[in-house]
Amino acid sequence: MNNIEKNLADIRARIGSAASAAERDADSILLLAVSKRKPASDIHLAYAAGQRDFGENYLQEALQKMQELEELEINWHFIGAIQSNKTRSIAEAFDWVHCIDRLKIAKRLSEQRPATLALLNVCIQINIDQEDSKAGIDLTELPELAAEISALPGIRLRGLMAIPAPREDYSQQLESFARLADALAELQQQGIDCDTLSMGMTQDMEAAIAKGSTLVRIGTAIFGERL
Ligand SMILES: *Cc1c(COP(=O)(O)O)cnc(C)c1O
Repeated sequence: MNNIEKNLADIRARIGSAASAAERDADSILLLAVSKRKPASDIHLAYAAGQRDFGENYLQEALQKMQELEELEINWHFIGAIQSNKTRSIAEAFDWVHCIDRLKIAKRLSEQRPATLALLNVCIQINIDQEDSKAGIDLTELPELAAEISALPGIRLRGLMAIPAPREDYSQQLESFARLADALAELQQQGIDCDTLSMGMTQDMEAAIAKGSTLVRIGTAIFGERL
């Protein structure tokens, strides 16, 4: 077994134990392998080990890898900051976008998504710990933005994404994730048909799964430290 194959097996086991601890079905949690700043050859190894969903943060880098890996059936997720002049390539090349934080970007993706492709899945990014340094909207802005985005053609609002403030303490990690889970439940009550909680990274995936994560975004634990 190569390292990436072994790391993936370890991560799947971690997801399995966290899911059973929370009395959840591990199949309800999608593993997104975050391959930013890692070569296409690493993605190839993960693919050979059964991984199908990959997350990228930088558009040019992602497009380059997509070209190299053209023959593979990968679901590509964009998880980086989006500049409005980059939306067309994102709308054409990706299956998911996790980091919508304004209507303008959602509208552009909606208009630019080719009609020949399936709807683009999108999540709204929430600045769950209200950090100045982080992207994402405040929870108070969510009901209005979600209603506007869910009315747009070409894209489908799937749910919410957050990157909480880094915390070592498990119970503090739980608090941030619980707020995001509550916000999704409120959207569902508002009548918005969404199902995705994109939360949990290498350092906090257990807490995220305990609070209902349906998609964990894991980089370091699969591909090793980034330079
Ligand atoms: C880099 C990144 C990850 C992966 O982080 P790790 O700590 O390496 O698992 C997840 N989500 C986003 C948005 C990222 O930018």
